Amino acid sequence: MFDIQNIRKDFPILQTKAHGKPLIYVDNAASTQKPQQVIDAVSDLYQNSYANIHRGVHYLSQKSTALYESARETVQKFIHAGSVKEIIFVRGATEAVNLVANSYLAPILGAGDEILISEMEHHSNIIPWQMLAERKKAQLKIIPLLENGELDLTLLPKLLTERVKLVAVTHMSNSLGTINNVSSIIEQAHARNIPVLIDGAQSIAHFPIDVQALDCDFFVFSGHKIYAPSGIGALYAREEHLKSMRPYQGGGDMILNVSFEKTEFNEIPYKFEAGTPNIEGAIGLASALNYISAVGLSVIVQYEQELLAYATEKFETVAGLRLIGTAPNKGSVISFVLEGVHPHDIGTIMDMEGIAVRTGHHCTQPIMDHYNIPATTRVSLCFYNTKAEIDEITSAIHKVKELMG
Ligand code: PLP
Repeated sequence: MFDIQNIRKDFPILQTKAHGKPLIYVDNAASTQKPQQVIDAVSDLYQNSYANIHRGVHYLSQKSTALYESARETVQKFIHAGSVKEIIFVRGATEAVNLVANSYLAPILGAGDEILISEMEHHSNIIPWQMLAERKKAQLKIIPLLENGELDLTLLPKLLTERVKLVAVTHMSNSLGTINNVSSIIEQAHARNIPVLIDGAQSIAHFPIDVQALDCDFFVFSGHKIYAPSGIGALYAREEHLKSMRPYQGGGDMILNVSFEKTEFNEIPYKFEAGTPNIEGAIGLASALNYISAVGLSVIVQYEQELLAYATEKFETVAGLRLIGTAPNKGSVISFVLEGVHPHDIGTIMDMEGIAVRTGHHCTQPIMDHYNIPATTRVSLCFYNTKAEIDEITSAIHKVKELMG
């Protein structure tokens, strides 16, 4: 069912040597590597089909327009949205959150209103809301973290006041690995007529997404976290919301008619895609989603959960190592601190062993504050990693301990 050696052959960069050692790439929560299929799709576009989209009657423009619009359909199917009109191509999760903040929430948010987020959000799902709250004299409210890295959802009924105009939470934490019970959050928010945005930046690559089953109002993700190029991502938003939202960026392609007196906006989704979009990114994204569908997300989930269990067991045997984030329902992210050693030193020593881990606050400073630590070392696994690599990482952690006394 799952031939890991064949999978690894699809990713040419995995053959790289780093400092003379075979590369072990476990920084997948930051960005994933690209399979040959995606590289070929982008290269093929440039070689055979590239032109600007939508505006041209000529052969190449029609060809690239068809590819771009078929990429939208691929995204729609991948997350099971009801219509292609509900898929907006954006730069990534960050831009999608900013779009919702400015186009959806800004016009309806008043002084004293509240936006509910959680303590485990990525800065991308904090700052756009914070900026908007400041502008509107509204307030940011926080669902707190429990010690094991789960959200304290017992407080949700109290936090969902009639002042809350939107809930924005992550599906899966990039620092802790926690998979949140977003269905329950959505259900409780909807019972009070409060819309919900789900940050799917991490979840998109690790388990199947069905936005209709989730019943979320908005879902955002970035292509580069799911083996696609960077600079492309998607916003899913319910058609009813998109129809009433005003675009927050103006420019070419998002209009039907322009005069100096008045502009008539294009229909959805185009009215939210001002300017020439990332055509090659969208086509690369579609290719990545097709690739993942062919491997099968259910097989990927199973394999990654095996890797997670294996790595957790190995790391737990290291004296002085403390796991940060031990929720029962986790994706394949393992953050840890090592007694007496700064994560930056761990990262540097690991790098000399050819191991790419990430050290720092992972754009989640409130999580670091919660645990009263400056940073963690994060091993984020995906389906091209192996148990043998986890053994190498465990040995490298022991080496760090020896070197750092
Ligand atoms: N949300 C989460 C949970 C993330 O992990 C990330 C990136 O690390 C983002 C949002 C932002 O993604 P991007 O920088 O691709 O817009």
